[in-house]
Amino acid sequence: MNLFTFTAHFDSEEACRNHFKEERDKVGVVCKECGHTEHYWIKSRWSYECKKCRHRTSLRSGTIMQGSNLSFMIWYKTMFLMTATKKGFSSKEIQKQLGMKRYEPVWAMVHKLRKAMGNRDARYTLEGMIEMDEGYFTVESSEVEKSRGKRGRGAAGKSPVSVMAESAQLEDVETGEKTSQCRYFKARVLESHHADEINDTVRESFDEKSIVFTDDSTSYVDISDYVELHFSEKSSEKLTKETLRWVHITISNAKRNFPGNYHKIKGKYLQMYLNEFVYKLNRRYFGEKLFDRLVIAGITGL
Ligand SMILES: [Zn+2]
Repeated sequence: MNLFTFTAHFDSEEACRNHFKEERDKVGVVCKECGHTEHYWIKSRWSYECKKCRHRTSLRSGTIMQGSNLSFMIWYKTMFLMTATKKGFSSKEIQKQLGMKRYEPVWAMVHKLRKAMGNRDARYTLEGMIEMDEGYFTVESSEVEKSRGKRGRGAAGKSPVSVMAESAQLEDVETGEKTSQCRYFKARVLESHHADEINDTVRESFDEKSIVFTDDSTSYVDISDYVELHFSEKSSEKLTKETLRWVHITISNAKRNFPGNYHKIKGKYLQMYLNEFVYKLNRRYFGEKLFDRLVIAGITGL
């Protein structure tokens, strides 16, 4: 969706609401009281009414717009901005573009959207051949010190992040040359850098038939308990450039992207920024459909 199609489609609050309702109807509404899924639509109240128990569900209720006083139009413009460029915008910049007086509601909205992006991606597990490694992201150091104390091997001001990438090895039948292609990614901030946490990440993120490639750092010790095979190689330039190629490209792209976009990242919010980065990366071929996808994530991703 570009600026012209956006303004043509969403020129009023009602147009945004109608679109949101259409998308919500496709997903389906479940009654909070009785679990019934058939509803009447009461347009005068912008609410659904359960056909069984008459409980009313507002259009916003159960979506990320629940409890928000901002108009649908503001949400839609924000979702447009967040999907308009590969690079992304800071909340401060979005506030400026929206012409909003107060920063806090914009910040809260943007973070709800980032959370929804993460929830959406959490529905999928990676499969096949998976690269896994850690990157250290610069965050406001006071937060790191407060949240992690002196534990963990990351230096103060650096937050460890586990980055995972599905990569398929392709071999050219004529030349024998091998190339790897990537599909989906995940990134998860590690709080303690404990082996348990890495194991949880593996269990939650990977299909059990996966084959996982890592370096030989000891925290990965139990990975083979949760997947089909685990290969670890001694850290080397070859490992970084070949076996763990996509993970390393992604880590350096994210590291380059964040400081350009955001003034400072607090440790406790790093996951939110990663959510947005990975969500867009995983949908890099969606083009103009990315906006609609984010609307759906906003409906289902609470
Ligand atoms: Zn009901």
